[in-house]
Amino acid sequence: MKKVRVRYAPSPTGLLHIGNARSALFNYLYARHFGGDFIVRIEDTDVLRNVEGGEASQLNYLSWLGLEWNESPDKGGAFGPYRQLERLDLYTKYAEELLEKGLAYKDFREDSDAYAIRFKVPADVTYGFDDIVRGHLSFESKDVEDWIIMKDNGIPTYNFAVVIDDHFMEISHVLRGEEHITNTPKQLMIYQAFNWEAPLFGHMTIIVNEEKKKLSKRDKNVIQFISEYEKIGYLPEAMFNFIALLGWSPQGNKEILSKENIIKQFDPKRLSKAPAMFDKDKLAFINSRYIKKLSIAELAKKSRAFLETDGIEIKSENWLELLVTVFQDRMNHIGEITELYHEFFHQTFKLTDESYQFIKENKSLTLLEAFSKHLNDSDFQVNAIEEAIKQSGLDTETSGKALFMGLRIATTGDMHGPSLPASLALLGKQEIMKRLTHTIDKLRGES
Ligand code: GLU
Repeated sequence: MKKVRVRYAPSPTGLLHIGNARSALFNYLYARHFGGDFIVRIEDTDVLRNVEGGEASQLNYLSWLGLEWNESPDKGGAFGPYRQLERLDLYTKYAEELLEKGLAYKDFREDSDAYAIRFKVPADVTYGFDDIVRGHLSFESKDVEDWIIMKDNGIPTYNFAVVIDDHFMEISHVLRGEEHITNTPKQLMIYQAFNWEAPLFGHMTIIVNEEKKKLSKRDKNVIQFISEYEKIGYLPEAMFNFIALLGWSPQGNKEILSKENIIKQFDPKRLSKAPAMFDKDKLAFINSRYIKKLSIAELAKKSRAFLETDGIEIKSENWLELLVTVFQDRMNHIGEITELYHEFFHQTFKLTDESYQFIKENKSLTLLEAFSKHLNDSDFQVNAIEEAIKQSGLDTETSGKALFMGLRIATTGDMHGPSLPASLALLGKQEIMKRLTHTIDKLRGES
């Protein structure tokens, strides 16, 4: 079998979009699963649309996602150069060969010496190929007009350059978006004209939004650029996992999968023919699962910049670690830490009817008195608070829900919430003693 060589071929016209990231990722998976090479080639022939920094940004975010490549403009390789504008001589040479063979012709501009080169589409030929995703597809040459392969400025068109490059870069498989299906017959014409073997093609389905409409860059309801996800604290491992599920499904129903596992399981036969739905909630859920797996130290490190940017004072490393311990299970993305912080510290303490009823019915007064004493004697570190909870339970023979929910209600007003010892340590001794006294006074007043 021919060595697997696949490529991601972006035009440097903007930021890495979720759709392109998916093309890159599936090519990457294909290469890694089959032990092949993954190449990044820059298709920069649409000169007016190229943007400054476009290439660097593409590479930067591919690497952020963990898609390491074997060959590229920045890394080099045996098949370079890897930017199309640096390969113009090659395209010219092969366009001229087609002219000589009579398979293409010059198309002069009116009253000028300048000409484009058009490919002469043969009559009555069927161009068929077995698409990796869709099965057999075929097109009739009579539906395709003679098309330009070289523009009058000496720059090739996409459909011509892509064939020259894929051939000389020995690309074995081309995985790309469905919008390129109708380009494929044009590309097959060029392979046949040179008598070159074409790679295998696979066209991935469109990505649709929750209304089942094709995801468009103008769709404001969906964040679409990888850089934006990084900015609000999505984790690259989670993005990798989510994108891999856009149009591919693993065997079994386990969807939280490491990169290594996905590479191992990847099977092009499981690429889907149905549109891939971009489910924001699923992405948020997957990300939250990866946040839960972070160590407290890692999460603290990642949260710091968000807090600082928001002007929140980080009192100490210990304080920061407490903060993220309290919120680790509630974050969908790390940027949410600032909102959670504000909610937590600016919330006024209030006993609702329902929560007050609970401590009344459970006769929590003696428990709270014991807790207040133990807490008052403690240094208010998490361990000491845990110990105070335990001791108060033993002293008053209270356990289970009556113990934990009773103490939570008395100090936070809430019946449920994040880790109690960490929450209390974070709110601080003064505030907690004030709240406890308030609750105790209220209970006493009623007894
Ligand atoms: N530059 C093309 C694009 O960004 C590449 C298409 C292909 O993979 O052949 O859509």
